[in-house]
Amino acid sequence: MSSTTSTSTSTAPRVGVADHVAGHDPAADDALRALALEAEARFAALEADAPDTYEARVDLAARALRWAHGTFGDDLVVASSMGDEVLVHLASQTAPGVDVLFLDTGYHFAETLGTRDAVAATLPVTVRTVLPLLTVAQQDAQHGPRLHDRDPDACCAIRKVEPLQRGLAPYRAWVTGMRRADAPTRTDITLVGWDARRGKVKLNPVAAWTDDDVQRFAAENGVLMNLLRDAGYASIGCEPCTRPVAPGEDARAGRWAGRAKTECGLHT
Ligand code: SF4
Repeated sequence: MSSTTSTSTSTAPRVGVADHVAGHDPAADDALRALALEAEARFAALEADAPDTYEARVDLAARALRWAHGTFGDDLVVASSMGDEVLVHLASQTAPGVDVLFLDTGYHFAETLGTRDAVAATLPVTVRTVLPLLTVAQQDAQHGPRLHDRDPDACCAIRKVEPLQRGLAPYRAWVTGMRRADAPTRTDITLVGWDARRGKVKLNPVAAWTDDDVQRFAAENGVLMNLLRDAGYASIGCEPCTRPVAPGEDARAGRWAGRAKTECGLHT
């Protein structure tokens, strides 16, 4: 098990993979699932009892991350699109040395890649970049150019869903920056839960954060923000599938605009 707490970027496979990788041991899987469900209930109760304030939401997010770091250690990973900057910052404070998984689809904005590199250079986390099995050129050759225009689900499956599955394999628990305020499809997400599809504990520590919470936390903590924020990109994904939104417009309206698609498949 890697115990490094250094800051780095890496596309190398993680070494020292745990021998209890979920899916290999039914008893371990059952125990992990029970742990997840117990934590889900406990954090739901804490959230229900907490005051409806910014401070309480930040405190609960930090507690969830500290619990996960203490429970899973190096088997915990934060999945980041580098459009969830406050989550990465909070994780660096509460789970120093934690692995941060970045899916480099080959279609990211330069600003997003710059954010990744700046995070790796300045925060006490280990950024691990995962690449799709096909380069963009190979995908174009096999499936035709601009697959994202013709079949975005297929493009996301190749460039996001499979790489995430592969990248998460060594870990028992993963963290996302999803918030209930993001989209109508996300209103029921919990702070801690069981990801049955992957057989892992899944945390959404900032699930309850409002847009104002994000802005306040970023300002108060000097969070390194993706420069696309200044250009009106409220939700940041791949360049061909993301546009800025107008003031007051739904943040997710800028993703796959003009299509029924609202999720890339990582969380569905
Ligand atoms: S968001 Fe667009 S470019 Fe990125 S993987 Fe999905 S379809 Fe392809």
